[in-house]
Amino acid sequence: MKALCAIAIVSSAVLLGAQGPATSGSVSLFEGARLIVGDGSAPIENSAFLVENNRFTRVGRKGEIQAPAGAARVDLTGKTVIPALVDAHSHIGYMKNLTSGPQNYTRENILDHMYRFAYFGVAASQAMGSDFGDLPYQLRAEFQAGKYPDAARFLTAGRGLAPEDEVRPDNMRHSAYTIRSEDDIRKAVQELAARNVKIVKTWVDDRDGAVRKLTPSMYGAIINEAHKHNMRVAVHATNPADAKGLLRAGIDIFAHMISDVDDELVQLFKQHPSTSILLALGGPRRTIHAPWIDPPHPLVRETVSPEQIKRLRDRLAGTTPDVLERGRASWERLASGIRKLNAAGVRIGVGTDGGGQQGDQFVGWTMHTEMENMVAAGMSPAQVLVAATRTSAAILGLDELGMVAAGKSADFVVLDANPLDDITNSRRIASVYLRGKQVDRARLRARWTGGGWSKN
Ligand SMILES: [Zn+2]
Repeated sequence: MKALCAIAIVSSAVLLGAQGPATSGSVSLFEGARLIVGDGSAPIENSAFLVENNRFTRVGRKGEIQAPAGAARVDLTGKTVIPALVDAHSHIGYMKNLTSGPQNYTRENILDHMYRFAYFGVAASQAMGSDFGDLPYQLRAEFQAGKYPDAARFLTAGRGLAPEDEVRPDNMRHSAYTIRSEDDIRKAVQELAARNVKIVKTWVDDRDGAVRKLTPSMYGAIINEAHKHNMRVAVHATNPADAKGLLRAGIDIFAHMISDVDDELVQLFKQHPSTSILLALGGPRRTIHAPWIDPPHPLVRETVSPEQIKRLRDRLAGTTPDVLERGRASWERLASGIRKLNAAGVRIGVGTDGGGQQGDQFVGWTMHTEMENMVAAGMSPAQVLVAATRTSAAILGLDELGMVAAGKSADFVVLDANPLDDITNSRRIASVYLRGKQVDRARLRARWTGGGWSKN
């Protein structure tokens, strides 16, 4: 097995090396950082790790690992290193400054979002069912061929499967297959399978009575058909009764936190240990807690236009006491449910719903607020870091990401402070490395702040 892995690593390094600047036969030894490897173990103080081409090849303590002849040495004394983050639920290509919708879904805008993720230390993001046309598959192939070495990996679930009432021309479900029958389901899933999609997205939500949601027999058919093709199903569902039905039907991924968690739901999760949940807490949380918008956090100022910042700030400032009180109650319910699921050992990953159309869920930034929100709900910073790295990578089937470990892709973030002390230290980004190469964050920042926001 080890020998096979080594062969795979060598051949992929050679392939990537032939294609561009991601690799140039470079070897670097990074020394002195506190290293959080991503599996929840205690950090390695005064660490050393070797990056050869685009992979970690050795990880240990400073002094244990010698630099090979010709290797560059990078002194990270005083810094903390974490694996690059993974956002398992986003909507890529829709948001563009003050507008959001399918009209913005272009190659240029999708790539801009993938550079934003990279800027924030996110190595991969999964678009959850809002993609359409050939473009996402073309881009996926280009990413796999190594065409964008300093952008986050773009993962697509293709078009989602939605009941008729969900689909409107101006929302993200406009791209979905309209599902009226089991025939529609088979056809849609087979098309996605032919596109080599790994995760199928669906929605089970009556939207406060506005939508006739998929029945249990219909979502059961989606799950069965997907499993037949070796695909997994991610669902937007927040109602506990729906969640129970979905667990019984074999759902793989919940893309949102469930609004109420009782003992029966916890038991069902325990009976389905491979089922994962992503929480997407940004919307409910920011109504009651968003100190980063006023004044805007430097990372927000560097990546979001002044008018978009102002719009969100005004919106949040206009929250009425009534809405605030309801928001607090609903947050408390969510947090209590998260604590129960976490205590029961449920597999929790990080998915932000970034770029979604609820408005101003800033791409990349939401990863850092989401981690803060998860800690606010009662998870420890160490648990949240594992969720955001190893667990999210595993949920997406990204074997090469999620840890700083020999054989993994050298994707990591260098921080000026320790996120185990305070999870918001994840925002104190000194540098980001993707596939062994440092992301030129200054160049990206100049593109966003220097190019005229109105055009962006
Ligand atoms: Zn979503």
